[in-house]
Amino acid sequence: MEKTFIMVKPDGVQRNIVGDVVTRFEKKGFQLVGAKLMHVSEDLAKEHYKEHKEKPFFGELVDFITSSPVFAMVWEGENAVTVARKMLGKTNPAEAEVGTIRGDYGLQVAKNVVHGSDSNESATREISLFFEESELVNYTKLINDWVYEG
Ligand code: UDP
Repeated sequence: MEKTFIMVKPDGVQRNIVGDVVTRFEKKGFQLVGAKLMHVSEDLAKEHYKEHKEKPFFGELVDFITSSPVFAMVWEGENAVTVARKMLGKTNPAEAEVGTIRGDYGLQVAKNVVHGSDSNESATREISLFFEESELVNYTKLINDWVYEG
């Protein structure tokens, strides 16, 4: 089963969207493996977004993500990375389909409510950046028999 890193960004926490994001992932059939409300340090922000360090928006992105708490999560399930990205919608909420999280809750790219890993490689990297191994919980949900084919 794949794992993916999902984070409700400061705007989503401030706007009380955490519960809806969790509910959407639960209802989709994914299993919660870890979650915490936390401040992102400047070092963590720069490491997490290092692929963007040459972009003009990098400074504002780091300032934004460190400005107020985020809700960091690990979700597990079949094709978790790809399916979660579909649930998030396009990076720019103005272009994201209605029905996606960004499409339903955002208006501008800098405040697009949620982050989701864009590949399995990113997911592994981001999960280990935000979570200790001991914070990830392994357990069986019997309801999975009603989510997955035999
Ligand atoms: N971002 C921004 N301005 C831009 C492009 C991106 O502020 O012009 C922010 C936005 O919050 C986005 C993040 O930088 O979520 C990372 O960008 P990326 O292209 O990796 O998008 P994502 O993977 O988050 O959809």
